[in-house]
Formats: sequence, structure tokens, C-alpha cells
Amino acid sequence: MSNMKAGWVGLGNMGTPIVKNLLKAGFEVQVYNRTREKEQGAVEAGALSASSLAELVKACDIIGVMVSDDEAVKEIFNDPEGLLAANAAGKLFINVSTVSPATSKLIGERCSAADASFIDAPVSGSVRPAQDGTLIIMAGGETTDIEKAKPFFDAYSKLTIHTGDVGSGSAAKLAINYYLGVCLQGLAETVVFARENGISTEDMLTIINEGALSNGITKMKSPAILKGEYPAAFALKHLTKDLRLATEQGIRSPLAAPLYQTFRQAMDAGLGDEDVMAIIKYLEAQ
Ligand code: NAP
Repeated sequence: MSNMKAGWVGLGNMGTPIVKNLLKAGFEVQVYNRTREKEQGAVEAGALSASSLAELVKACDIIGVMVSDDEAVKEIFNDPEGLLAANAAGKLFINVSTVSPATSKLIGERCSAADASFIDAPVSGSVRPAQDGTLIIMAGGETTDIEKAKPFFDAYSKLTIHTGDVGSGSAAKLAINYYLGVCLQGLAETVVFARENGISTEDMLTIINEGALSNGITKMKSPAILKGEYPAAFALKHLTKDLRLATEQGIRSPLAAPLYQTFRQAMDAGLGDEDVMAIIKYLEAQ
């Protein structure tokens, strides 16, 4: 077990199960969430609630941040009361949120200027792998920092890939989430097309899941499609954000533009807070 003290900012769908795994691995963990009531699950599992971001930085050696988007990450690091306002020298910051490579590089530079270290380490995998501690980490940063973070990463992941310099973890994450978008929309379009030709959803999902075209996502999302209920494990608004970031990053794939457009329209239609698989509701309504 590591004797590093861990901090965590952002206790949404992903942050809370990750913190529980850090506690299970034996870390002493302090947490901070903007909406303080949402710290309850982590605190009940044994985490301490930090009174402010400055207190969190003071008390911890390694600090993970997992919040919605680029703006939230910039705010948490750069604000006058943010993570870098305190004495951050010698601390190791890990951004687990999905953001642009440019934001990761910017935060990396800000950390260097504060004599702190930074790794962009977004994850592939949703709530279930976060609970099981089987996420995949794409880590951009110095080898020595990634080695130092190993016990922290091992607590909630099954694999860490060192993708290169700061920013490269975020680039890898935008690529894998582009593939996720293609898979989800492909699955949704297939089920809708089959249904329109008289094939039941149950039969079509069985045909997919029993054959070579099954994968983790088709199996994971089939129960929700059958029920027609989509509580967010990964909110549709977040994947829409990731497809926007991929577009801004210059993705040239022929499928990228219509894919982003469909998710953006689904979000505009009010599905942003439902699970990504709710894309099928939008397609059904067309
Ligand atoms: P979530 O459940 O929507 O939670 C979002 C978190 O961000 C909450 O803790 C929220 O605080 C915080 N936040 C948002 N804006 C903030 C701000 N301006 N200042 C401070 N805190 C702010 O999100 P999630 O599903 O855990 O995902 C978090 C990140 O991980 C996103 O970048 C997402 O793309 C990525 N990700 C998600 C999954 C997944 O399957 N869910 C998988 C991999 C990566 P409040 O409680 O105060 O609103």
C-alpha cells in the first residue's frame, strides 16, 4: 500500500465509485465536490470532506480531478480559490475528466509553473468498471510521475497505458470515445431499422449479442434498450461534448460530422441528462 495521501475533486457518476476503490486499496482520501451534499456516498465509505480546495491540496500528495468539462477543469485549477492558488509545490495532480489535449497542456504548464506535477489520465469504461476497479487509463506525462501514481491508478484500473507527453491521454480518450459514439449509434440504428421491418428488439439484440458483432457495449446496453429506460451511467451530454472536442481536434472521418450532429440534436431535444444509449429514443422519434 502507498503512504501517499489522496485527494479527489468531483463526485459524480464516476468519481464516487473511484473514491470507494481508493479507500478499499488503503488510501486515506479527502474529497471535495462543488455541491457538498453529493460527497455523502464517499464520506459514508470512509473519505474525509475537505473544507476547501486549498485544504485538500494542503492535506494530500496526489489529487485526482473528475468533473464535467474543460471549463470546469480550468476553473478548479485556475480560480483564485482553486487548486493552484494554494501552495501546490511538490504535489501530483491527475486530471481524469475528458477534456481537450489543449486544456491538458495548459493545465500541465500551470502546474509546472507552480512546481507541481501533472498527468492527464482520462479513463475508458463507465460506472460498472469504475465500481469494479477495471477502468483503462490513458496517461500523458513524465514516466517518473506515472510510476509515482501507479498505486493510485491500480486502485481503480486494470491497465494504464503511457500514451506520451501531457495532452496525449486526452487525445487517446477523444479517439476511443469517437469509436464509442460510432458503436452506440450503429447499435441504435440497427435496432430501429430491424424494428421498422418487423423484427422484434429482443430478437435483433439476441442476433447481435450471440454473434461476432457483439461487444461489451452491445451487451451492456441491451437491457436498457429492452426496458426503454435510460438512467445516466454516462450522460449523453458528456459524449456530445467529447464528439465536439474530437471535431475541434480536426477529426476528418466521414462519419464524424453526422455522428456529432445526431448527438447534438438529441441533446437539444432534451436527452442530455439521460444515458448515451438514449440516442435510440432520438432516432426512433425521427
Ligand atoms: P457527472 O456525473 O455529470 O458529474 C459531474 C461532476 O462535475 C460533478 O461532481 C459536478 O459537481 C462537477 N462539476 C461540473 N461543473 C463543475 C464546475 N464548474 N466546478 C466544479 N465542479 C463541477 O459526470 P461523470 O459521468 O462522473 O463524468 C465526469 C467526467 O468524466 C466527464 O468529463 C466525462 O466525460 C468523463 N467520463 C465519464 C464516464 C462515464 O461513463 N460516466 C466515463 C469516462 C469518462 P456538482 O455535483 O456540483 O454538479
